[in-house]
Amino acid sequence: MTAPATAHGLLSGLDEIADIGRDARRGGYSRHLWQPADLELRDWFTGRAVRLGLDVEIDRNGNTWAWWGPRGDDAIVVGSHLDSVPGGGTYDGPLGVVSALDAIARLQASGFRPARPCAVLVFAEEEGSRFGIACLGSRLMTGALDAGRARALVDADGISLEAAASAAGIDPAGLGEDRAALARIGLFLELHVEQGRGLIDLGSPVAVASSILAHGRWRITFTGEGNHAGATRMTDRRDPMLAAARSMLAVRDAAVASTGSRATIGRIEAVPGGTNVISSQVTVWLDARAAEDAAAQDLVTEITARVSAAAAAEGCTAVVAEESWSGAVAFDEALRDRLVHSLHGVPTLPTGAGHDAGVLSSRLPTAMIFVRNPTGVSHSPEEFATLDDCLAGVAALEQVLRELL
Ligand SMILES: [Zn+2]
Repeated sequence: MTAPATAHGLLSGLDEIADIGRDARRGGYSRHLWQPADLELRDWFTGRAVRLGLDVEIDRNGNTWAWWGPRGDDAIVVGSHLDSVPGGGTYDGPLGVVSALDAIARLQASGFRPARPCAVLVFAEEEGSRFGIACLGSRLMTGALDAGRARALVDADGISLEAAASAAGIDPAGLGEDRAALARIGLFLELHVEQGRGLIDLGSPVAVASSILAHGRWRITFTGEGNHAGATRMTDRRDPMLAAARSMLAVRDAAVASTGSRATIGRIEAVPGGTNVISSQVTVWLDARAAEDAAAQDLVTEITARVSAAAAAEGCTAVVAEESWSGAVAFDEALRDRLVHSLHGVPTLPTGAGHDAGVLSSRLPTAMIFVRNPTGVSHSPEEFATLDDCLAGVAALEQVLRELL
């Protein structure tokens, strides 16, 4: 899916980055932290911001800021992210960044001058696609992720986050809670393509977010006995791949039994990974979500029990380890109501997707504006939003900024 044709230059940013980080194998985009596509996107953002007269800086956690006017505390900060899942779509992240820049361009063109500090903020590694932890930049900034743990994270090529940060010009010693950066954010706004079908039924191009499901990621490691695929009788095997297969069905069943919950196994790695080899170890990653924290934790407890039973049935063992956890988020009510009023009563909508705005909400007022997704498909090359709806999003952001600034 290609970016929409632009209207009077608006959303042309999506066209400008349309060739950066294309993934020929998966389709769509693979744009991961501090890899060439991500660095190219950072350069693109810097160039575009500078053309608007904004002042760009990178904070010590790798998040990129572009200031409109003087820097200062208690700023209105608007942004999103430019990285993607493997084989991601055009809109998840970049729509929020491009819309923020376009909203400022429209305000500037109208002669509007902000009375408060204002910045566009692009968070590092929102998707967690390289180092496994979603909302890495905002979690580091708020201290929700320990800097020592972050530095030790390793990507699929065995490169540590510490080394990758250094290579990208970020001092790894500076990673971690950044109270000065947080103090500069009076409130944070994130525009995002909707990642479900909520707005289709509501018949509105935009909505304001009400809440985010509790969600987390767990690594499940099955250990059995590596052996010869031809010489080992079927009755003599301890095959962790079969333990994983049983577990995947158990994960689905557990989530179905828990109303409104979601659980997904979207990633698997086999060791040693040979066609004629029974695996010695298989690792899968679980993504589990529910409306309430307790419901999500109960779901994972239930899944852990079912996974252990599935592993035992194949003569294997299973270890479930939490990689990340985000409690349910209820967005700041006063700010949410203010946005709804400013946007003439647009609907409010919960979401099952995590966002940097959700991470920041533990420390300061945050709000989100969703743009309608006509298929509800996201984290896929098929993700889409119409030009008219994207323009409605820019107009909504402009309207809200005009009132807040
Ligand atoms: Zn996103």
